[in-house]
Amino acid sequence: MPWTTDSLNIFVERDENDNVRLLEHLRYPFTDQSTNSPHELAAVYLWGVRALLALPDSAIEHLKATIPHPWDGPGKPTTNKGLQLRWERAFSIREETTVLLIQQTQTVAEPKGPDAEGIDVEFAGLRLLVHIDDKGSRRITGITSTLVYEPIEVPESSRRLVKGSLLLGAEKVNAILANFGLSPLQLHLELRATRFLHRFLPQSGLEGLRQPEQPLIAGHYYIANAIRSISGGPGNNPSAYDLTVREWDYAPMRVEVLLSHAASTNTQTGLGLAFIADPVSATGDFALQPNASPVSLDGNRSYVALPNLAPPPTGKPWSLSGKHVHMNDGSPRLPGWIGIKPPTLKQPFFAFRSRTNEFAAVNAYYHLDRMFEIIESMGMPFSSFPMGYKLPVHVMHRAALHPGVCSDGKCVNAQVQILPGYPNPTVYISFALADLSRNPGSADVPVEPLGIACDARIVWHEFCHALIAASTNFLEFPFAHSAGDALAAINGDPESHFNSAHNLEAFRGLTYPWGKTSSRRHDRLASEGWSWSSALGQKKGYENDIRDMFGYAREQVLSSTLFRLYRSIGGDAMKTVNSPDQATRAAAATYATYLIVRAIFSLGPRRTVPANTADALEAALAEADVGSQTVSDGVNRLGGTVHKVIRWAFEKQGLHGGRAQPIDVYVDNARKGEYSFDPHWQASPRGIWNSTTPNPLHGDQAPLIGQDNYLFVRVKNRGHLAAKNVTASVFSALVGQDQTWPSTTWQRLSLTPGGSQTLSQNTADDELIFGPFTWHPDFPWSYSFLVQVDTDGDLSNTNQNTQLPCARGPTPLSMLVPLDNNIGLRSIKVP
Ligand SMILES: [Zn+2]
Repeated sequence: MPWTTDSLNIFVERDENDNVRLLEHLRYPFTDQSTNSPHELAAVYLWGVRALLALPDSAIEHLKATIPHPWDGPGKPTTNKGLQLRWERAFSIREETTVLLIQQTQTVAEPKGPDAEGIDVEFAGLRLLVHIDDKGSRRITGITSTLVYEPIEVPESSRRLVKGSLLLGAEKVNAILANFGLSPLQLHLELRATRFLHRFLPQSGLEGLRQPEQPLIAGHYYIANAIRSISGGPGNNPSAYDLTVREWDYAPMRVEVLLSHAASTNTQTGLGLAFIADPVSATGDFALQPNASPVSLDGNRSYVALPNLAPPPTGKPWSLSGKHVHMNDGSPRLPGWIGIKPPTLKQPFFAFRSRTNEFAAVNAYYHLDRMFEIIESMGMPFSSFPMGYKLPVHVMHRAALHPGVCSDGKCVNAQVQILPGYPNPTVYISFALADLSRNPGSADVPVEPLGIACDARIVWHEFCHALIAASTNFLEFPFAHSAGDALAAINGDPESHFNSAHNLEAFRGLTYPWGKTSSRRHDRLASEGWSWSSALGQKKGYENDIRDMFGYAREQVLSSTLFRLYRSIGGDAMKTVNSPDQATRAAAATYATYLIVRAIFSLGPRRTVPANTADALEAALAEADVGSQTVSDGVNRLGGTVHKVIRWAFEKQGLHGGRAQPIDVYVDNARKGEYSFDPHWQASPRGIWNSTTPNPLHGDQAPLIGQDNYLFVRVKNRGHLAAKNVTASVFSALVGQDQTWPSTTWQRLSLTPGGSQTLSQNTADDELIFGPFTWHPDFPWSYSFLVQVDTDGDLSNTNQNTQLPCARGPTPLSMLVPLDNNIGLRSIKVP
């Protein structure tokens, strides 16, 4: 059957104006064997979905005619009437996925001449991913849209473009800075401005500035320029800014501070002492807070390798700088410098007591280097992210944080800033303190302070800002602060003391158990208001929510969502009643981290297609799963096994109104088709049962050897639409030969004459009973039965038509059955 947008396998998300914002069809891939070009495939796809996305034919024809060669820059805009599109950028993830960004443009100056070219409309575009499997075939499984459909009103007086280069000399840059009340550049340099149509909305931070002679009207679009610059700022606290001005008069329209709270090829490995995990997570002892005595904290240090250090020139000492991380020593002088240099030594052996600045420096290097190494080992090195940020990143282990009350560096916090630079920007991560109660550095208490870089969880949080920046060019998500709390919670869990016994659950949910400053949690419940369906889930609310100024409430909704995902895919695994299965948990943490990093990677610059809602991030996570071939997280995981759990994890946090997909059939089990972790994931006798006669009503009976037996399957639906043409297929293998799918050891059972293999529901509440399927055991052994249920609108992950890597396999059953309720397994013993 040809691919059609009428299929129940396509899920459509619309906004409050009924515009389509997202198409998702992870198990219903769009393919076209006639082309090998991702751009061509995308153009054919857009033609197929043009009615849903309300795309004019002319816009798609323009894209078809301007497919860029690999050596070309971004595509040209057009002067077409109506909605206009141009290719923005394309970038590749792990050679498995090409991300294509398409920019909406608008012609402003009429009627002709160079000014008549379309100008980019800020935040308006399309993002689609083309996945390539290891046989080279390409498929598209969804698209995200932030297109603007309402008329783009540019006041007559503002329709002119200023002639000349967008490379602005220092005079022009200083004029822009002055309009924002910022101090002039210290160095004379040219900055490249970006030009786009910006919709003006009055914003806090602009009041008090001089009004332009021609006032800006809220809701109207203006030809705008943006520059990025470091400035002294008010109170002379230097910081990096993204400044948007009206092009022709530099009237200030928006200011964004580019910070968020909280390379050498030949490298060598040093040694140091660090906290691998914070002392409270590691021991469960709340007495080991950051204000504890040096003696008790010192006992929690471990020897760690410090890889990727750049060896010093002959005669010079070693410092904590290398391939990924450069510890700033005051040169260049970066914002926040308070004169505390990182240690330098004759030998690369960085062993210090915990309550010292040097120890904070070692921890900052150790944790950040490890995180950059982790994403590199996943095939997603930081420098390959779309914005081309360069390594090493700059790090200050003890810094003042601006703006705020931390101008002396004596506060409990950390932050990330973007360091604009031409052509390659990077990030700059600075850390303050973990503890103030010992009045650090005072004459009365001459101990040194404990740095917050000693908390690996805090470092994960800041690291996530660096990832978001390297992909989107901004430090936070538009709908939530970041996914940093999720990375901290997930990666802090496998070895945490709090993950074992049930009486510690309340502590397990603390995202930052070390230190008393933060009460953020990752076990928040939708039923208590931490829901994507409440005000917290709306981007509009975020921008004006004075109860959640920094987005940390939304961050907890996100961390709770993603921590649930981690738990379901193995984060709750136990070896015995009281002993967590750390290897399985660590593998789950690795895969969850992989998905989060890859989802962020795939977003691309925010000015084109911002991730405005949690739905957009959910889709990016699911695409990260289905677009992966193999990921090694301690075990080899094939792509496509966890996307249903991702959907469920968001649903449980209130997204999609807290409802399942419209059709969600499942083989009846104790979990009622849900995905909370269950080590006993075999179907119950209610879901799959044997009868010695072809009658389902006798319930589960022990099989009889040497004669025909009859297998039945019960299927229900979590959705609200009746499922039609549901088919069940049953396969059997001897226990011991039943570990992977597909495999020749599985034999398909034939349907007993008169039995049911395909059934339809009248209402979504109907139970469907399939069978009987005949089987004939010839010797005493345990037999496994694998049931695969498929229906339009809900295919199983093992269905070949999905083209999911895990359907091609061979995939371990432990990654298929518990993570897909369309698949059931039961082993039955023949006595
Ligand atoms: Zn943050």
